[in-house]
Amino acid sequence: MIDFHLHARKKRGWTLKILRLYDRAGVHRAVTFGLGDALGEMTNPEVLALCLKHPDRLIPFAHVRLGRDTARTVKSLAEEGFRGLKAIWPIAPYDDKRFWPLYEEAARLALPILFHTGIVLRSKVDERQPVSSLWMRPGTLDLVARRFPKLKIVAAHLGGPWFDEAFMISRVHPNVWLDVSSGSGWRSKGMNARYFGEKLGWWNGFVKLIFATDQPHTKLSPADAVREWKGILAAARASQSTQKRFWSANASEILNMKFLVVLGFWIFLL
Ligand SMILES: [Zn+2]
Repeated sequence: MIDFHLHARKKRGWTLKILRLYDRAGVHRAVTFGLGDALGEMTNPEVLALCLKHPDRLIPFAHVRLGRDTARTVKSLAEEGFRGLKAIWPIAPYDDKRFWPLYEEAARLALPILFHTGIVLRSKVDERQPVSSLWMRPGTLDLVARRFPKLKIVAAHLGGPWFDEAFMISRVHPNVWLDVSSGSGWRSKGMNARYFGEKLGWWNGFVKLIFATDQPHTKLSPADAVREWKGILAAARASQSTQKRFWSANASEILNMKFLVVLGFWIFLL
């Protein structure tokens, strides 16, 4: 199993604690990133150092600031060893033309982008720059997905409260997936197995979902999140292959993991 959404906290002893929780839940790897001081999280270089210590468990994503970082930033992040990018708090809607060169470079380098979508909590960032949840609506990714068909886009949190928008965007675009992380769990919002069955059952929308938890900004432990989604998938009678896509296959494909295994094997032979 792969958790596609882990925030690296800047706190002593935190890493071992989260890895132990993952062990208990049967989660093997996590896409890891930090949003820096504003949230008491690691910076990009700290995330990279952490992931290098646990290369079999943690996959480094770099936090990019849309409006400040450029295509050149993306190139050097890839050279440093980041496997993807995390975007949040853009200074304009995600489809703003100013961000296009950065998207183009990410697509060229096969770096997926995990976009925060939907409502965003208030934070110290609000005082430093303009922030609007509307600029992170799932619909703002429609143009990005069309314009950059090779860019792999993962929209986080099902775009809440614009769920229908997120479901449709992921259905029509082969290069858009949805990360199912949630702060308090979906059941607590009244979104149970029946809800997901009705919303995603027709034109199998379940195939575009990806397991994700948003640790540690969630009340659910990794084991709780695994339990919640096993229940939803079972009630929806999701096929074995859909379930495999949800827990790991979609993530492996987005992260080019098979390619890396093959590459590693050849390097080993040489
Ligand atoms: Zn998050």
